[in-house]
Amino acid sequence: MRCLSGMVVSGYGGFYQVRLEGGQVVNCKPRGRLKKEFSKIYSGDKVEISFTPEDNGVIETIAPRRVLLPRPNIANVDRLLLVLAWTMPDFDLLLADRMLVIAARVGVAPILCFNKIDLLPEANSSDLAALCQVYEAAGVPVLAISATENVGIDQVRKVLADGITVMAGQSGVGKSSLLNRLLPEEKAETGEVSDRLRRGKHTTRYTRILPMDEQGKGFIADTPGFFTLDLPCDLEEKELASYYPEFRAASACRFDGCIHDKEPDCGVKQAVAAGGIDKGRYQRYLRLLQEIREREVRY
Ligand code: GDP
Ligand code: ZN
Repeated sequence: MRCLSGMVVSGYGGFYQVRLEGGQVVNCKPRGRLKKEFSKIYSGDKVEISFTPEDNGVIETIAPRRVLLPRPNIANVDRLLLVLAWTMPDFDLLLADRMLVIAARVGVAPILCFNKIDLLPEANSSDLAALCQVYEAAGVPVLAISATENVGIDQVRKVLADGITVMAGQSGVGKSSLLNRLLPEEKAETGEVSDRLRRGKHTTRYTRILPMDEQGKGFIADTPGFFTLDLPCDLEEKELASYYPEFRAASACRFDGCIHDKEPDCGVKQAVAAGGIDKGRYQRYLRLLQEIREREVRY
């Protein structure tokens, strides 16, 4: 039996659409035994398919997943692009930090993307530079763009050139506007894509993975609704600091198991006082710590 390799790009009512390496999309059903082995097949899954004599696609095997993003489930995601608006709505750095923790924990590279910089008054451009510095110290690339004014889009394209990217961010920050910019222009005319462009915000139920270029190297996930930004429920207090690379770099806190909160002589707190670690990042770290504690009381 001849099998072809591809990637699941969407799923509807028991059928999965598999994009073959050449770009052709085949509607497939999973082989019966796969239904037992896997509770579900997700967008992003690498699969092998065969064809029935009637030319229907059959998913034969699913490759082990490198990463599985929770809610919505997307397999083999390479990066999470957190879109924040410079204003309208004002950006929320607690949300940004929360997302960075979530991304690091699932093993996906995060990128911060400040949109609507056309609304940034000239006088405030140093605020943006300062923010870039804070997050670059945390090992996170920062992009400043305007989706509607077409500023910085080439840079986004470069960063997302291969693999699968998932966009996250509050409603209204410009995710749909950016998505439309990133998809190939000629595609905007086709039935499939114009359907997507017309869709209401909450009507799409399945995550779809869309190619950003004809070669099919870079893909972007069009997720239904909002990528969850709740801290994972099994995240523990003592684990949180491990997702703050600048805490490690700037301080070398001497104490094993120090959560850098009330402990005396904590190296992280000293670095915050001396300006080596951004105060805002540290204060938001304490808020996330508090959130974890409150959750532990609840359960
Ligand atoms: P989503 O909810 O995150 O998908 O956000 P949308 O893409 O629907 O954008 C929300 C609103 O912000 C729309 O009115 C857009 O026209 C506007 N918008 C998006 N990007 C920009 C931008 O770069 N600059 C400005 N001024 N407005 C933008
Ligand atoms: Zn400490």
